[in-house]
This record gives sequence, C-alpha cells and structure tokens, in this order.
Amino acid sequence: MKLHEYQAKDIFKEYGIPVTEGIAVDSPREAVRAGEELGLPVVLKAQVMVGGRGKAGGIRVVRRMADIEAEAERILSMTIKGLPVQKLLVTPAVDIASEVYLSLLIDRNTSSVAFIGCAEGGVDIEQTAKTSPEKILRLGVGASRLDGLTEKECLPFALKLFADGSHARAAARIMVAMAKMFKGRDCSLIEINPLVIDVAGNVIALDAKVLMDDNALFRHPDNGNLQELNDLAAGEAPSGNGSVSFVRLDGNIGCMVNGAGLAMATMDIVKHFGGSPANFLDAGGSSDPRKVISGLKLILEDKNVKVVLINIFGGITRCDDIVRGILEARKQFDVPVPIILRLAGTNEAEGRALLNGTKVIPASSLEDGAREAVQLGRAA
Ligand code: GDP
Ligand code: MN
Repeated sequence: MKLHEYQAKDIFKEYGIPVTEGIAVDSPREAVRAGEELGLPVVLKAQVMVGGRGKAGGIRVVRRMADIEAEAERILSMTIKGLPVQKLLVTPAVDIASEVYLSLLIDRNTSSVAFIGCAEGGVDIEQTAKTSPEKILRLGVGASRLDGLTEKECLPFALKLFADGSHARAAARIMVAMAKMFKGRDCSLIEINPLVIDVAGNVIALDAKVLMDDNALFRHPDNGNLQELNDLAAGEAPSGNGSVSFVRLDGNIGCMVNGAGLAMATMDIVKHFGGSPANFLDAGGSSDPRKVISGLKLILEDKNVKVVLINIFGGITRCDDIVRGILEARKQFDVPVPIILRLAGTNEAEGRALLNGTKVIPASSLEDGAREAVQLGRAA
C-alpha cells in the first residue's frame, strides 16, 4: 500500500522524524483557512501518489494570502500522470539551504534492508544512478538490526551526505527513526527526497514516500482507515479486506476460491454447466478463517446470490481452517442461501469431519459441486 505524503508525514511525526506542520484540505476555501492558520509563505502540494509533482506544476510556494484560493483551485483541478488531484497539503514554506536524498528500502540484490543516500537531492535519483552511479551511497542494515540501530553506526554514512557535523548528527538521528518506523510499520520503502537543511540549520523531511507491505496490513490497526482512503484514491473498489481480491459480476452463483487461477477455472466450469457467477473472489493462499468470513460477507451483500460455491484446493491452505471459517461465519451472521463446498488436499478429512451435522453441502468433485450449484441457482 502506498501512502499520500500527508499520511506518511503523520507517521514521520510519531517516530520523531522532523517535518513541517501541515494541513490536508480538499477545497480552495479550506486551503485559505489553512494558510491563515499556518502563516505565510505556504506551499500548496498536490496529494497524488506519483513523483515529479513539482515539475508537473503541482507544488507551489504562495507568498500572498490573496493568491491561495486561485492557486489551490488550479492545483485541485489538475490531473498528474493520470491521477486527479483530490487533496492538497498546505504547509509552511521552508527556506531551503541544501537538499539531499535519503531512503530506506528492501535491497533484493543483497537480501537486506539498505539506506540509499545521495548528496544531490531533490533531483531524479534514478537518473543520477544511471549517469553517476558513484554518487549513490549505500549502507546495508540486517533486517534483525532495524530496531537496535544506533546513531553512532549511522554517523559515517550521514557525514557523506552532510559535511557539517551537527547536520550529520541530525541526519543520523533521522536514520535511526526511519529504521524503527520501517520495522514498526512493516514498510518496504521510506523515501525522503529531499531531506533539506533550512537557512536556520534545521534538518527537515520535505517530502515523504512510504510503501507498506500489503501482506502485513492485517497487523496494523494503527493504520486506521488509510487503506480505504487510498484504495478509493487509486480507483479500486475497496474489498473491505486487503487480502481478498473481489470483483462483482452479474450472475447468481457466489464463488469463493483460494487462488486466482483456480477462481478463474471455477467460473469457467460454472459457465460450462450453464450457470453464471455472481463474483470473482480469490481468498488467497493462506489459511486464515477470517478471510472466509469477510469473503462470505462480501458475497452475501449481493442480493442476487442464490447459492455459494466454495472451491478449496488445500496446499498451504488447510481445509479444516476453511470449514472453521464457514461455521464461524454462520454463527456471526445469517446465511440465507445454501453453501456447496468442494474440499481437496491438506487436512481434507479433518475438514469433512467438521461438516457432519451442518447445513454445508459437501461436493465430491469440482464438477459435481458446480453442477449442483447451477441447479440450486436455477431452482431458487
Ligand atoms: P515531488 O516533485 O513530487 O518529489 O515533490 P517534493 O515535495 O519533493 O517537492 C519538489 C520540489 O519543490 C522540492 O525539491 C523543492 O525544491 C520544492 N519545494 C517543496 N517544498 C518546498 C518549500 O517548502 N520551500 C521551497 N523553497 N521549495 C519547496
Ligand atoms: Mn520529492
């Protein structure tokens, strides 16, 4: 999951990475109010999840109160690299003395986490990497050390970015905080471009790009509604559960399958027997009963659904966990339609045993299950 700059900076604050105060707004009038609150000059920054907003005209320093409304209006009507600007970050303008590049990322070449730095910041780092690779600095950090990194260890690297000792010490403190955040929030990238020194000598993260590992989102209630907001901003239907891919269709047979390929095959076979799927749902390859519960909930929100066909091929997924999810779902909410379940693979026998005495209809094969689902769908 990608974060907007304003969201990333909120998390920076939590970890003690210095940023300017900012107010995210979605109308020119609110931008004016934010400007009054923060004091001039301010920067208006388009909140879209792409780089190069500055070059595209999506970032403007505004020095007169009278100009805020028109500038905000202009940026809010922009589309940058295909993404419509829906929010602005209003933040006090920094008087920049110098800019560097600093990031922490997963370095696949060395199978470790690494800081990447460049004394020439603000610019396109990919370009610098091509034309002058010797300017790109790298400091590997074992993933297990992210929590225990010290300023002392970071200082030599920071001194290559900033000649001045006090600036370098401030940067080393920021590196320690970045490492804590990387671990604490399951990030795959934290990028500060530029990290600046202002004319008073303060080191400030002027921009923020953060990626979080989607596979770890379940353990971050601290993300609040970030995901929902960002799914909508990216034009994707929020699934209500990051780990379930869901697409609504117009048939009446609800389908839940573990694995995208198997989900497509299941829909094909439903069609083959003359039925029509109500959705595509890939519950993924793990064995989490909660996915079954949220998946069933999504399927049953569609009142056209007359029957649910669940097709599980147990590999990593254990069949008994799936059955537990189904039974738990039936306890938690009303399931007004029949459920047909095809189980094969890991813990199949255990799963089948749990079905005894329940209303779930076991299918002996995918063909049988699909045929029966089509019949029940027709009869209903
Ligand atoms: P990006 O273009 O999407 O990477 O957006 P950034 O937030 O990195 O801003 C791009 C450039 O705008 C920076 O490198 C700065 O040169 C300039 N900029 C951004 N904020 C300020 C500010 O507060 N003061 C000044 N003087 N320039 C700024
Ligand atoms: Mn930037």
